[in-house]
Amino acid sequence: MDDDIPYLLLTPGPLTTTRSVRQAMLRDYSTWDVDYNSLVNDVRRRLTRLASDSDEFTTVLMQGSGTFSVEATVGSVIPPDGCLFVVNNGAYGKRIMAIAQRLQIATVEAAFPETEPPDVAAIDTLLRQHPEVTHVAMVHCETTTGMLNPAAEVGACVKRHGKQFILDAMSTFGGMALSMESESADFLISSANKCVQGVPGFGFVIARKTELERTEGWARSLSLDLYDQWQTMEAGGGKWRFTSPTHTVRAFAQALDELEQEGGVTARQQRYTANQRRLVAGMRALGFETLLPDTLHSPIITSFLFPTASFDFQQFYDDLKARRFVIYPGKVTNADTFRIGTIGNVHPADIDELLNAIGEVRTAC
Ligand SMILES: *Cc1c(COP(=O)(O)O)cnc(C)c1O
Repeated sequence: MDDDIPYLLLTPGPLTTTRSVRQAMLRDYSTWDVDYNSLVNDVRRRLTRLASDSDEFTTVLMQGSGTFSVEATVGSVIPPDGCLFVVNNGAYGKRIMAIAQRLQIATVEAAFPETEPPDVAAIDTLLRQHPEVTHVAMVHCETTTGMLNPAAEVGACVKRHGKQFILDAMSTFGGMALSMESESADFLISSANKCVQGVPGFGFVIARKTELERTEGWARSLSLDLYDQWQTMEAGGGKWRFTSPTHTVRAFAQALDELEQEGGVTARQQRYTANQRRLVAGMRALGFETLLPDTLHSPIITSFLFPTASFDFQQFYDDLKARRFVIYPGKVTNADTFRIGTIGNVHPADIDELLNAIGEVRTAC
Protein backbone atom coordinates (compact mmCIF):
# COMPACT_ATOMS: atom_id res chain seq x y z
CA MET A 1 0.00 0.00 0.00
CA ASP A 2 1.25 3.54 -0.80
CA ASP A 3 2.41 5.43 2.24
CA ASP A 4 0.73 8.61 1.04
CA ILE A 5 -2.81 7.22 1.10
CA PRO A 6 -4.60 6.96 4.44
CA TYR A 7 -6.71 3.99 3.35
CA LEU A 8 -7.44 1.64 0.48
CA LEU A 9 -10.73 2.17 -1.34
CA LEU A 10 -12.58 -1.11 -1.81
CA THR A 11 -15.41 0.61 -3.62
CA PRO A 12 -16.86 0.73 -7.14
CA GLY A 13 -15.17 4.08 -7.87
CA PRO A 14 -13.49 6.39 -7.38
CA LEU A 15 -10.88 3.72 -6.79
CA THR A 16 -7.46 3.50 -5.25
CA THR A 17 -5.12 4.86 -7.90
CA THR A 18 -1.35 4.60 -8.20
CA ARG A 19 0.87 7.39 -7.00
CA SER A 20 2.13 7.85 -10.59
CA VAL A 21 -1.45 8.43 -11.83
CA ARG A 22 -1.99 11.05 -9.14
CA GLN A 23 1.39 12.62 -9.90
CA ALA A 24 0.46 13.04 -13.56
CA MET A 25 -1.95 15.75 -12.42
CA LEU A 26 0.87 18.05 -11.33
CA ARG A 27 0.79 19.97 -14.58
CA ASP A 28 -1.47 22.72 -15.89
CA TYR A 29 -2.63 22.73 -19.49
CA SER A 30 -4.42 25.22 -21.67
CA THR A 31 -7.49 23.68 -23.25
CA TRP A 32 -6.61 25.55 -26.47
CA ASP A 33 -3.06 24.29 -26.70
CA VAL A 34 -1.89 21.59 -29.09
CA ASP A 35 -0.07 19.77 -26.25
CA TYR A 36 -3.36 19.15 -24.49
CA ASN A 37 -5.47 18.61 -27.59
CA SER A 38 -3.14 15.97 -28.96
CA LEU A 39 -3.21 14.23 -25.59
CA VAL A 40 -7.01 14.20 -25.79
CA ASN A 41 -7.01 12.72 -29.27
CA ASP A 42 -4.42 10.15 -28.24
CA VAL A 43 -6.66 9.08 -25.33
CA ARG A 44 -9.64 8.86 -27.70
CA ARG A 45 -7.69 6.68 -30.15
CA ARG A 46 -6.46 4.38 -27.40
CA LEU A 47 -9.94 3.94 -25.96
CA THR A 48 -11.34 3.10 -29.36
CA ARG A 49 -8.55 0.54 -29.81
CA LEU A 50 -9.31 -1.05 -26.44
CA ALA A 51 -12.86 -1.63 -27.66
CA SER A 52 -12.31 -2.65 -31.27
CA ASP A 53 -9.73 -3.21 -34.01
CA SER A 54 -12.14 -1.78 -36.54
CA ASP A 55 -12.28 1.81 -37.82
CA GLU A 56 -16.06 1.83 -37.58
CA PHE A 57 -15.92 3.27 -34.06
CA THR A 58 -14.91 6.53 -32.44
CA THR A 59 -14.69 7.78 -28.87
CA VAL A 60 -16.25 10.92 -27.44
CA LEU A 61 -15.15 12.19 -24.03
CA MET A 62 -17.73 13.99 -21.88
CA GLN A 63 -17.28 16.11 -18.75
CA GLY A 64 -18.81 14.88 -15.51
CA SER A 65 -19.19 11.54 -13.78
CA GLY A 66 -20.28 8.37 -15.57
CA THR A 67 -23.97 9.18 -15.26
CA PHE A 68 -23.43 12.34 -17.35
CA SER A 69 -22.17 10.17 -20.20
CA VAL A 70 -25.15 7.81 -19.84
CA GLU A 71 -27.47 10.82 -19.92
CA ALA A 72 -25.56 12.32 -22.88
CA THR A 73 -25.96 9.06 -24.80
CA VAL A 74 -29.62 8.43 -23.99
CA GLY A 75 -30.46 12.10 -24.58
CA SER A 76 -28.55 12.36 -27.87
CA VAL A 77 -28.87 9.12 -29.83
CA ILE A 78 -32.57 8.26 -29.57
CA PRO A 79 -34.43 9.94 -32.45
CA PRO A 80 -37.22 12.42 -31.54
CA ASP A 81 -39.84 9.75 -32.25
CA GLY A 82 -37.69 6.87 -30.95
CA CYS A 83 -38.33 4.46 -28.11
CA LEU A 84 -35.82 3.11 -25.60
CA PHE A 85 -36.12 -0.42 -24.24
CA VAL A 86 -34.42 -0.64 -20.84
CA VAL A 87 -33.27 -3.88 -19.24
CA ASN A 88 -33.47 -3.25 -15.50
CA ASN A 89 -32.21 -5.53 -12.73
CA GLY A 90 -30.68 -3.02 -10.36
CA ALA A 91 -30.05 0.57 -9.40
CA TYR A 92 -28.09 1.43 -12.55
CA GLY A 93 -30.67 -0.05 -14.92
CA LYS A 94 -33.27 1.91 -12.98
CA ARG A 95 -31.18 5.05 -13.44
CA ILE A 96 -31.22 4.63 -17.23
CA MET A 97 -35.04 4.41 -17.03
CA ALA A 98 -35.15 7.55 -14.88
CA ILE A 99 -32.95 9.45 -17.35
CA ALA A 100 -35.17 8.49 -20.31
CA GLN A 101 -38.34 9.38 -18.43
CA ARG A 102 -36.95 12.73 -17.31
CA LEU A 103 -36.08 13.49 -20.95
CA GLN A 104 -39.59 12.45 -21.99
CA ILE A 105 -38.31 9.67 -24.21
CA ALA A 106 -40.77 6.82 -24.78
CA THR A 107 -39.66 3.68 -22.93
CA VAL A 108 -40.39 -0.02 -22.61
CA GLU A 109 -39.04 -1.62 -19.46
CA ALA A 110 -37.94 -5.22 -19.01
CA ALA A 111 -37.68 -5.44 -15.22
CA PHE A 112 -36.09 -8.36 -13.40
CA PRO A 113 -35.36 -8.98 -9.71
CA GLU A 114 -32.06 -7.59 -8.49
CA THR A 115 -30.76 -11.03 -7.64
CA GLU A 116 -31.62 -12.61 -10.99
CA PRO A 117 -29.96 -12.20 -14.37
CA PRO A 118 -32.07 -10.69 -17.15
CA ASP A 119 -33.89 -13.44 -19.04
CA VAL A 120 -32.89 -13.27 -22.70
CA ALA A 121 -35.95 -15.23 -23.89
CA ALA A 122 -38.27 -12.79 -22.08
CA ILE A 123 -36.41 -9.85 -23.63
CA ASP A 124 -36.76 -11.48 -27.05
CA THR A 125 -40.53 -11.83 -26.59
CA LEU A 126 -40.94 -8.25 -25.36
CA LEU A 127 -38.94 -6.93 -28.31
CA ARG A 128 -41.23 -8.84 -30.68
CA GLN A 129 -44.23 -7.24 -28.99
CA HIS A 130 -42.75 -3.74 -29.26
CA PRO A 131 -41.75 -2.93 -32.85
CA GLU A 132 -41.68 0.78 -31.90
CA VAL A 133 -38.43 0.22 -29.96
CA THR A 134 -35.40 1.78 -31.67
CA HIS A 135 -32.72 1.27 -28.99
CA VAL A 136 -32.05 -1.16 -26.16
CA ALA A 137 -29.99 -0.16 -23.12
CA MET A 138 -28.58 -2.35 -20.39
CA VAL A 139 -25.90 -2.46 -17.71
CA HIS A 140 -23.02 -4.92 -18.03
CA CYS A 141 -21.92 -5.39 -14.42
CA GLU A 142 -24.86 -4.28 -12.26
CA THR A 143 -22.78 -2.64 -9.56
CA THR A 144 -25.77 -2.78 -7.18
CA THR A 145 -25.14 -6.47 -6.56
CA GLY A 146 -21.95 -7.25 -8.49
CA MET A 147 -23.87 -9.37 -10.98
CA LEU A 148 -22.41 -9.81 -14.45
CA ASN A 149 -25.34 -9.44 -16.84
CA PRO A 150 -25.42 -11.49 -20.07
CA ALA A 151 -24.65 -8.49 -22.29
CA ALA A 152 -23.33 -10.48 -25.25
CA GLU A 153 -26.48 -12.66 -25.39
CA VAL A 154 -28.77 -9.65 -25.06
CA GLY A 155 -26.71 -7.75 -27.64
CA ALA A 156 -27.05 -10.61 -30.15
CA CYS A 157 -30.81 -10.68 -29.52
CA VAL A 158 -31.04 -6.89 -30.02
CA LYS A 159 -29.25 -7.24 -33.36
CA ARG A 160 -31.61 -10.03 -34.49
CA HIS A 161 -34.40 -7.50 -33.96
CA GLY A 162 -32.48 -4.84 -35.90
CA LYS A 163 -32.22 -2.37 -32.99
CA GLN A 164 -29.30 -0.33 -31.67
CA PHE A 165 -27.61 -1.49 -28.48
CA ILE A 166 -26.39 0.88 -25.74
CA LEU A 167 -24.23 -0.80 -23.12
CA ASP A 168 -23.42 0.75 -19.75
CA ALA A 169 -20.08 -0.99 -19.28
CA MET A 170 -19.10 1.59 -16.69
CA SER A 171 -17.72 -0.82 -14.14
CA THR A 172 -16.27 -3.45 -16.50
CA PHE A 173 -14.55 -1.63 -19.38
CA GLY A 174 -10.77 -1.93 -18.98
CA GLY A 175 -11.18 -4.61 -16.32
CA MET A 176 -12.89 -7.35 -18.30
CA ALA A 177 -12.20 -8.55 -21.81
CA LEU A 178 -14.98 -7.23 -24.04
CA SER A 179 -15.30 -5.50 -27.39
CA MET A 180 -17.90 -3.66 -29.42
CA GLU A 181 -18.13 -6.82 -31.54
CA SER A 182 -18.38 -9.31 -28.65
CA GLU A 183 -21.24 -7.35 -27.06
CA SER A 184 -22.83 -6.22 -30.38
CA ALA A 185 -22.67 -2.69 -28.95
CA ASP A 186 -23.32 0.46 -30.95
CA PHE A 187 -22.66 2.71 -27.96
CA LEU A 188 -20.53 1.64 -25.00
CA ILE A 189 -20.21 3.90 -21.97
CA SER A 190 -17.62 4.01 -19.19
CA SER A 191 -15.78 6.58 -17.11
CA ALA A 192 -12.30 7.67 -16.08
CA ASN A 193 -12.45 6.46 -12.49
CA LYS A 194 -13.39 2.83 -12.93
CA CYS A 195 -11.33 -0.08 -14.28
CA VAL A 196 -8.87 1.99 -16.29
CA GLN A 197 -7.93 3.30 -12.83
CA GLY A 198 -7.90 7.03 -13.51
CA VAL A 199 -9.34 9.77 -11.32
CA PRO A 200 -12.91 11.14 -11.58
CA GLY A 201 -13.87 13.96 -13.93
CA PHE A 202 -15.09 12.62 -17.26
CA GLY A 203 -16.82 9.73 -18.95
CA PHE A 204 -16.52 8.39 -22.47
CA VAL A 205 -18.74 6.90 -25.11
CA ILE A 206 -17.37 4.55 -27.74
CA ALA A 207 -19.75 4.82 -30.66
CA ARG A 208 -20.39 3.36 -34.08
CA LYS A 209 -19.61 6.31 -36.37
CA THR A 210 -22.48 5.69 -38.80
CA GLU A 211 -24.95 5.70 -35.89
CA LEU A 212 -23.47 8.82 -34.30
CA GLU A 213 -23.52 10.65 -37.64
CA ARG A 214 -27.30 10.25 -37.82
CA THR A 215 -27.88 11.98 -34.49
CA GLU A 216 -27.18 15.59 -35.44
CA GLY A 217 -29.74 17.90 -33.82
CA TRP A 218 -31.40 15.20 -31.70
CA ALA A 219 -29.82 16.05 -28.34
CA ARG A 220 -32.25 17.15 -25.64
CA SER A 221 -29.49 19.03 -23.81
CA LEU A 222 -26.92 21.57 -24.93
CA SER A 223 -24.02 20.64 -22.65
CA LEU A 224 -24.66 16.89 -22.97
CA ASP A 225 -24.91 16.90 -26.77
CA LEU A 226 -22.83 13.89 -27.80
CA TYR A 227 -22.88 14.74 -31.51
CA ASP A 228 -21.71 18.34 -31.00
CA GLN A 229 -19.01 17.21 -28.58
CA TRP A 230 -17.81 14.69 -31.16
CA GLN A 231 -17.82 17.24 -34.00
CA THR A 232 -15.80 19.70 -31.91
CA MET A 233 -13.27 17.02 -30.94
CA GLU A 234 -12.91 15.97 -34.57
CA ALA A 235 -12.76 19.45 -36.08
CA GLY A 236 -10.63 20.95 -33.30
CA GLY A 237 -8.06 18.15 -33.14
CA GLY A 238 -9.05 17.17 -29.60
CA LYS A 239 -10.85 20.27 -28.33
CA TRP A 240 -13.82 20.02 -25.96
CA ARG A 241 -16.74 22.42 -26.24
CA PHE A 242 -16.52 23.70 -22.67
CA THR A 243 -13.84 23.65 -19.99
CA SER A 244 -12.45 20.16 -19.83
CA PRO A 245 -10.91 18.31 -16.87
CA THR A 246 -7.31 18.78 -18.05
CA HIS A 247 -5.61 17.25 -15.00
CA THR A 248 -7.94 14.27 -15.05
CA VAL A 249 -7.22 13.63 -18.72
CA ARG A 250 -3.47 13.63 -18.12
CA ALA A 251 -3.89 11.24 -15.20
CA PHE A 252 -6.05 9.05 -17.44
CA ALA A 253 -3.34 8.92 -20.14
CA GLN A 254 -0.94 7.73 -17.44
CA ALA A 255 -3.52 5.16 -16.29
CA LEU A 256 -3.77 3.86 -19.87
CA ASP A 257 0.03 3.48 -19.95
CA GLU A 258 -0.14 1.52 -16.70
CA LEU A 259 -2.93 -0.70 -18.02
CA GLU A 260 -0.60 -1.59 -20.91
CA GLN A 261 2.36 -2.14 -18.57
CA GLU A 262 0.28 -4.52 -16.48
CA GLY A 263 -0.26 -6.65 -19.57
CA GLY A 264 -3.50 -5.15 -20.86
CA VAL A 265 -7.10 -5.94 -20.01
CA THR A 266 -6.53 -9.70 -19.80
CA ALA A 267 -3.90 -9.33 -17.08
CA ARG A 268 -6.02 -6.81 -15.22
CA GLN A 269 -9.03 -9.10 -15.35
CA GLN A 270 -6.87 -11.90 -13.93
CA ARG A 271 -5.80 -9.70 -11.02
CA TYR A 272 -9.38 -8.58 -10.28
CA THR A 273 -10.55 -12.18 -10.49
CA ALA A 274 -7.79 -13.32 -8.12
CA ASN A 275 -8.78 -10.50 -5.72
CA GLN A 276 -12.44 -11.42 -5.80
CA ARG A 277 -11.94 -15.19 -5.40
CA ARG A 278 -9.58 -14.66 -2.49
CA LEU A 279 -12.03 -12.25 -0.90
CA VAL A 280 -15.02 -14.58 -1.21
CA ALA A 281 -13.10 -17.64 0.04
CA GLY A 282 -11.75 -15.66 3.00
CA MET A 283 -15.10 -14.09 3.86
CA ARG A 284 -16.81 -17.48 3.78
CA ALA A 285 -14.13 -18.83 6.12
CA LEU A 286 -15.03 -15.95 8.46
CA GLY A 287 -18.71 -16.89 8.33
CA PHE A 288 -20.03 -14.38 5.78
CA GLU A 289 -22.28 -15.30 2.86
CA THR A 290 -22.47 -13.71 -0.57
CA LEU A 291 -25.79 -12.40 -1.84
CA LEU A 292 -25.33 -14.07 -5.22
CA PRO A 293 -24.19 -17.54 -6.21
CA ASP A 294 -20.66 -17.64 -7.66
CA THR A 295 -21.96 -18.33 -11.18
CA LEU A 296 -23.58 -14.88 -11.39
CA HIS A 297 -20.59 -12.97 -10.08
CA SER A 298 -18.36 -10.40 -11.73
CA PRO A 299 -14.82 -9.90 -10.42
CA ILE A 300 -15.68 -6.22 -9.82
CA ILE A 301 -17.60 -5.97 -6.57
CA THR A 302 -19.28 -8.45 -4.21
CA SER A 303 -22.34 -8.06 -2.00
CA PHE A 304 -22.25 -9.79 1.38
CA LEU A 305 -25.26 -10.39 3.60
CA PHE A 306 -25.23 -9.00 7.12
CA PRO A 307 -24.07 -11.98 9.24
CA THR A 308 -26.68 -11.39 11.96
CA ALA A 309 -29.83 -9.30 12.34
CA SER A 310 -28.04 -7.11 14.89
CA PHE A 311 -24.99 -6.50 12.69
CA ASP A 312 -23.89 -2.88 13.03
CA PHE A 313 -22.59 -1.91 9.59
CA GLN A 314 -21.44 1.56 10.64
CA GLN A 315 -19.35 0.13 13.47
CA PHE A 316 -17.91 -2.52 11.14
CA TYR A 317 -17.13 0.20 8.58
CA ASP A 318 -15.47 2.47 11.15
CA ASP A 319 -13.39 -0.38 12.61
CA LEU A 320 -12.18 -1.36 9.15
CA LYS A 321 -11.45 2.24 8.21
CA ALA A 322 -9.31 2.54 11.35
CA ARG A 323 -7.38 -0.43 9.92
CA ARG A 324 -6.96 1.38 6.54
CA PHE A 325 -9.76 -0.23 4.55
CA VAL A 326 -12.81 1.59 3.22
CA ILE A 327 -15.68 -0.66 2.15
CA TYR A 328 -19.07 0.23 0.66
CA PRO A 329 -22.66 0.15 1.87
CA GLY A 330 -25.18 -2.16 0.20
CA LYS A 331 -27.73 -1.05 -2.37
CA VAL A 332 -30.03 -4.05 -2.71
CA THR A 333 -33.72 -3.44 -1.93
CA ASN A 334 -34.73 -6.72 -0.31
CA ALA A 335 -31.70 -7.73 1.75
CA ASP A 336 -29.29 -6.16 4.25
CA THR A 337 -25.96 -6.16 2.52
CA PHE A 338 -22.63 -4.41 2.29
CA ARG A 339 -20.27 -4.42 -0.64
CA ILE A 340 -16.55 -4.86 -1.12
CA GLY A 341 -14.94 -3.83 -4.39
CA THR A 342 -11.96 -5.68 -5.82
CA ILE A 343 -10.93 -3.19 -8.53
CA GLY A 344 -8.41 -0.34 -8.60
CA ASN A 345 -4.78 -0.52 -7.52
CA VAL A 346 -5.63 -3.38 -5.19
CA HIS A 347 -3.74 -6.66 -5.17
CA PRO A 348 -4.25 -10.11 -3.63
CA ALA A 349 -1.83 -9.23 -0.80
CA ASP A 350 -4.11 -6.28 0.08
CA ILE A 351 -7.08 -8.64 0.18
CA ASP A 352 -5.18 -10.88 2.61
CA GLU A 353 -4.58 -7.86 4.85
CA LEU A 354 -8.22 -6.89 4.58
CA LEU A 355 -9.30 -10.39 5.59
CA ASN A 356 -7.01 -10.25 8.62
CA ALA A 357 -8.56 -6.93 9.58
CA ILE A 358 -12.09 -8.29 9.13
CA GLY A 359 -11.12 -11.30 11.26
CA GLU A 360 -9.98 -8.97 14.05
CA VAL A 361 -13.08 -6.80 13.81
CA ARG A 362 -15.41 -9.82 13.73
CA THR A 363 -13.91 -11.33 16.87
CA ALA A 364 -14.11 -7.98 18.63
CA CYS A 365 -17.84 -7.48 17.93
C1 LIG B 1 -20.30 3.84 -11.48
C2 LIG B 1 -21.40 3.45 -12.38
C3 LIG B 1 -22.14 4.42 -13.10
C4 LIG B 1 -21.86 5.90 -13.02
O1 LIG B 1 -21.94 6.40 -11.77
P1 LIG B 1 -21.37 7.85 -11.45
O2 LIG B 1 -21.58 7.97 -9.99
O3 LIG B 1 -22.14 8.83 -12.22
O4 LIG B 1 -19.93 7.84 -11.86
C5 LIG B 1 -23.09 3.99 -13.99
N1 LIG B 1 -23.35 2.69 -14.17
C6 LIG B 1 -22.67 1.72 -13.49
C7 LIG B 1 -22.99 0.29 -13.76
C8 LIG B 1 -21.68 2.08 -12.57
O5 LIG B 1 -21.01 1.12 -11.92
